[in-house]
Amino acid sequence: MNIATFNEIKKLYLSGLSTFQVKDKLKLSFSVREIQRVLAREGLTRSRKLAYELAVKEGRVGRVKKLSTIKRIRMSAMLRYSILKRDNFRCLLCGATAKERLLEVDHIDFNVRNNAPENLRTLCEWCNFGRRRDNDSTS
Ligand SMILES: [Zn+2]
Repeated sequence: MNIATFNEIKKLYLSGLSTFQVKDKLKLSFSVREIQRVLAREGLTRSRKLAYELAVKEGRVGRVKKLSTIKRIRMSAMLRYSILKRDNFRCLLCGATAKERLLEVDHIDFNVRNNAPENLRTLCEWCNFGRRRDNDSTS
């Protein structure tokens, strides 16, 4: 790829076009992947969110397709409250109260669909965050 071509690509990309549109407009023989690689080498990348929004705008991705595929079954306020009450409004790991820290209802088995009371417990935001991060790094 010569510098003139690269500058054209860069100009269009920075004006808000996607790499797909850039390739199309300049009738490039490079693959979209190659264009993205060259742009990335120059530090020109879009965040996943921005790239996604662009794809939706162009109709490459259906609006119904969400970034996250996990469907949470919304925990009812009543269920949440019953778990907090059962655990005496305290974090089961460190004992923090609602006055000290935000309390959250945690899924013990990490399955957000499993809202059985025995799978739920009260954790403060700190303990719950640590758990989430630990789980992310091991899975
Ligand atoms: Zn805690």
